[in-house]
Amino acid sequence: MTTRHPFYKSVADSDWNDWRWQMRHRVTDPDELQRILELDDLARERVRAVLGRFRMAVTPYYLSLIDPRDPRDPVSLQAIPRPAELEVQQADLADPLAEDRDAPCRELEHVLTHRYPDRVLLLATGECTMYCRHCTRRRIVGRRERATSPALLTRALEYLKEHEEVRDVLISGGDPLTLSDSALENLLSAVHAIPHVEIIRIGTRAPVVCPQRVTPQLVDMLGRFQPLYVNTHFNHPAEVTDESRAACALLADAGFPLGNQSVLLRGVNDDPHIMKALVHDLLKMRVRPYYVYQCDLSEGIEHFRTSVGKGIEMVEFLRGHTSGLAVPTFVVDAPGGGGKIPVMPQYLISRTHNKVLLRNFEGVITTYSEPANAAVDSDLDSAHWCPPHKRSDIGLARLCAGDELSLTPSEHRSTRRASPSSGERDPSKDN
Ligand SMILES: *Cc1c(COP(=O)(O)O)cnc(C)c1O
Ligand code: SF4
Repeated sequence: MTTRHPFYKSVADSDWNDWRWQMRHRVTDPDELQRILELDDLARERVRAVLGRFRMAVTPYYLSLIDPRDPRDPVSLQAIPRPAELEVQQADLADPLAEDRDAPCRELEHVLTHRYPDRVLLLATGECTMYCRHCTRRRIVGRRERATSPALLTRALEYLKEHEEVRDVLISGGDPLTLSDSALENLLSAVHAIPHVEIIRIGTRAPVVCPQRVTPQLVDMLGRFQPLYVNTHFNHPAEVTDESRAACALLADAGFPLGNQSVLLRGVNDDPHIMKALVHDLLKMRVRPYYVYQCDLSEGIEHFRTSVGKGIEMVEFLRGHTSGLAVPTFVVDAPGGGGKIPVMPQYLISRTHNKVLLRNFEGVITTYSEPANAAVDSDLDSAHWCPPHKRSDIGLARLCAGDELSLTPSEHRSTRRASPSSGERDPSKDN
């Protein structure tokens, strides 16, 4: 078991292992933090200054993972405010992913984001177990320290019922596991009852920052809403403990596929060897590394940002070098609401009319000959398996389908002049 911080040594095991106790005893006050971590007054005041803008809350469990002798401790960097958070940089944005713009209506801002054709993000609460210093949603999270109101949830559910294209609902927040079992159960039953919703996903950091939250009772309740996927957020091998292993084991044994979404953070995990140790630990816990995110442009987190190149380098060190299952997809969530864009090293080096030239992880260059009949579609009848209402032939998929010649930005001069009907040749594009 994790060694408790000496400050908590007299706490009864029954309290320590109770998630409600952990939640109630989260450290939110700089004076208390000073006592526990033995900070000097200057360090305490630096924390206090940040709290005027962004919240702090750290569970005693997560605080115990901090090595007080290490000024660059990866847990501390994620949990304890630093003055750099107050520096708003030129590139920073309050809502970098334009999640509010992609809400179906004004009222559902901060509740529902419908950006992709067939799935939505539902923010069940603004509360988190621990306020990550690097949170991308810090404009909401910790500001609205409560669950989304029943009235708004009802609105969101109405929207989901009306939108038959939504087959995947991602419940996140904040952290939905800050809700009581019964509140979460009510929400899940309502979503699960919508006939066209095929799968539900829960995004939670509880297994990392408060593994005590994952109780047999919770897991039993969640079991009624299969197929249910659980995604968590480990960033560093130091977060993998007996307790977090036990939490993941409970979830995996109950049959929930587990995934992990990390954020690439300068000074925390921007080293391919640390990432490799992390993804191996995750697989041992039956957690599949799903995404690694490039750090977003949220306010006051520039000190956490790495170059995009760092993420590509991480993939270079993983792909081929270790189990394919261990390799997450590295994504840049496009500022302005463009969604997740996967980025990876170049493996396709060149191509001719009948050959592609590829390189592997060792630098071996190889050729693959295309089949002679490549130009002819195999002409499958897919309508039975994927009826028209389930299709999303938009964007580049539409170009691939051959219905359109080009994708043109709306402010392009050809579009401004007259919008040529699709497929027609526009002479203005010839130069
Ligand atoms: C990440 C995200 C999803 C889910 O994306 P997947 O690639 O399917 O995991 C859905 N909606 C929004 C707004 C998101 O940010
Ligand atoms: S758990 Fe997620 S939503 Fe909550 S503070 Fe951390 S990154 Fe933000």
